[in-house]
Order: sequence, then structure tokens, then C-alpha cells
Amino acid sequence: TEDEAKWITKETVNNFREHVNPGFLEYRKTVTKDGQFAAVEWSDEGSCFKDVNGKKYIDCLGGFGIYNVGHRNKKVVKAVTDQLKRQALHSQDLLDPLRAILAKILADITPGDLKYSFFTNSGTESVEAALKLAKMYSDRSTFISTTRSFHGKSLGSLSGTAKGMFRKPFLPLIPGFRHVPFGDIDMMRKTFETSALVGEDVAAVILEPIQGEGGIILPPEGYLKQVRDLCDQYDALLIFDEVQTGMGRTGKMFCAEVYNVVPDILCLAKAFGGGVMPAGAVVGKEKVFKSWFDNPFMHTTTFGGNPLACAAAIATIDVLLEEDLPSRAAEVGEYFLQGLKDAAVGHEDKVMEIRGKGLMIGIEFHKDEVGYEVSKALFDRGILVAGTLVNSKTIRIEPSLTISYEEVNTVINAFKEVLPTVK
Ligand code: PMP
Repeated sequence: TEDEAKWITKETVNNFREHVNPGFLEYRKTVTKDGQFAAVEWSDEGSCFKDVNGKKYIDCLGGFGIYNVGHRNKKVVKAVTDQLKRQALHSQDLLDPLRAILAKILADITPGDLKYSFFTNSGTESVEAALKLAKMYSDRSTFISTTRSFHGKSLGSLSGTAKGMFRKPFLPLIPGFRHVPFGDIDMMRKTFETSALVGEDVAAVILEPIQGEGGIILPPEGYLKQVRDLCDQYDALLIFDEVQTGMGRTGKMFCAEVYNVVPDILCLAKAFGGGVMPAGAVVGKEKVFKSWFDNPFMHTTTFGGNPLACAAAIATIDVLLEEDLPSRAAEVGEYFLQGLKDAAVGHEDKVMEIRGKGLMIGIEFHKDEVGYEVSKALFDRGILVAGTLVNSKTIRIEPSLTISYEEVNTVINAFKEVLPTVK
């Protein structure tokens, strides 16, 4: 209960502040007043939480897109606590029934003929597994990724991530990665044609169907289909990194369905664990996974697919389907997007563009300072929004898909109030 959560005091927070990376505290000053960081004391079962001062926030940062079924969703919490009474982690050599059930559910709900799953603990690990899977399948070593992409920061996934600042200290990364502008099919084609073996060396194209950290960048009309065709032409795999777009966020269970394009490999994480457990998955076609069957121990992880994570993921999918939250994301998202656009009328000197799909919305400003000021002013009004790792001029709105219209209106009104106050 809320009362039981009172063990975190302001003093606790101040004590542990000393041990927080000073760079992070400095960063907080750019997005919150006085560098406050809303230490969460208690979150409700929807879209809100309270900080140690008892101040309530509407969480539009949403753990960077993990709370699709709400904070502490009752059914997910129950599934995990029930599972905890039976078994927590597992001894890997036994076939865990929950893992098999979850794999079957994923085969059923993912588009096309995606059939097998490997379970991970994070988005980064899902991407890492996808890249290794593509290499094993194809015996090729060139990967085509996109500019402004974000796929994680482990050495393999970072090779796919575009942002120079994150890459530079760790160069050289895995050789063979080429980055082309997201949305530019001609450059993508040229990259295939000018690769060492004229496309025959391309293991896979990896991309986010809608770029998240890049600033909520939607693909141009027909782009993803054209990429699919190019991959087919050169027998290269298509990897969709749906770590952020998956699990109902963009108005369908998977963003692949929004654009009607089936990838060969689908990466999931974030909201996959229902905002309760860290959990991820890489789902692939049979032909892709076959290369793994010869040696199932080629890629393994101790905690991936543990019973608690599987229980959380199964319950999460249940809630998403039962409450038809993907459709709700489409509906509420459209209303939210329009409301924000209307609020920004007359402020074109500050706001460059507001765009999105479902409840994945980006507000791009002409200058990043304006974005920071808006974030701060919203924070003061009890609304938490997210910056983006790759595009600092854009703030992101990724609340629970259960967010009420009343809460959405509160955010829209606050945005309207705040815009005239920032320079
Ligand atoms: N891929 C995408 C598209 C992401 O947005 C992120 C996280 N922002 C990742 C991969 C990495 O996921 P994680 O932080 O869970 O490792």
C-alpha cells in the first residue's frame, strides 16, 4: 500500500545522492528545476507516481516505454508473486514450461511466420542475440544500420547504434557495420550494391520501424516495404528492433503490423516484462533459428527466460489482448497528438514538429534549450517527459497505454500553458 512505501525518506535520498554519478546530477539540472530527481516513492497502477515529497506526477516518460500495461499492473504483479511461490529462477537444463508457453504465444501473436524465440533480460541483449543469429544463419559479416538509430550500448549493439558520441571511445567496434540515412531507400540500395560482394556479403539490415531515441522518426510511406524487398533481393535478413515500438505502443501489438511488413527477426524488451520484470526476446523465422539448432549452446544467458520474467511477459500479453490496449494506444494517441499540435499553434518559432504513432509521440523544438525548458516547466507541473538519447531537440511522450483522457488533457493543457513562458 501507499503507507507501507513510506520507508524511503527524503534523508535516504539525500544520502544516496552522494553516490550518484555527478554528471547525471548535472544533467538533471537541465531537465528539472534545481536538478531534482523525482525519487519515486510509490507508483499507482496506472500512469502516475509520487515522489518522496508526496508530489504526484503523470509519467509520460514511462520508464522510456516500459509501462505499456501501467505501473504495477495488478495482473502482472499477481502472476509474478504467484510464480515466486512456486519457483523463481531455474536450472537451465530442464525445459521450463513457462518458456515454452511464452514462445508459443509469441509465435501466435507476432506477424507472419515468426516461430522461435530466445529470451533475454534487456533490449541490448535482444539486439546482440539477433546480430549473432543473423551471422550464424548467413555466414556473412556486413550489417546495414541507419543513422539516428539506437540499438543498445554493448559492443555488438553499439556497432549498430549510430550516435558518434556513444561510439567514439570504443572504436573500433565490430567491423562490417554501415550506416545509411533512415528513410532513404536509394542510399540503402546503393549500400547493398557497393558492399564488398555486391550485396552477397550483407547478413542483415537492422532498424527500428519507428526510431525512438532518434526523436520519434516515422518511416516515409512505403520505405519499410522497399527495405523488405531489397533484403529479399540479396537474401539478407531484415531485423526489426521493436524494443521500444513493440507491445502495443504504436497502435498494433507490433509496429511491423502498422506498416504491414514482416521481418525475419524481431527484437523485444522494455514493455515485454510489463513494467514489473526485466525481460526481452528475440523472435525469428524457422529458417533463421535452424542455424542455432545444431548447437543450442552457441549463445546462452543464465537469467534469460527465467520463470519470473516469463510469468510477467505472459500476463502482460494477456492484459494487452484482453483490454485491447494496442487499439486504445491508437485512439488515445491520435487524440493526444492532435491536442499537442493544437496547443502549439502560434508557437512555430519554438516548436518545429510534433509527430508520432499511437502513444509514441515526439515534440521537436528548433533548439534543444527550449526542449529542456519545456521539460523543466512540465516537471514543475507534475508531468515527467523523456528526452531522447540521440536527438536532444526532441522530447518524448510514452505513457502507459492505460492513460486516461483526463490525464491526457492535463498534459495538453500544461503544454499549452508552458509554451508561452519559454524562450
Ligand atoms: N533498442 C531500442 C530501439 C531501444 O530503444 C533501446 C533502449 N532505449 C534498446 C535497444 C536497448 O534496450 P535496453 O536499454 O533494455 O538494453
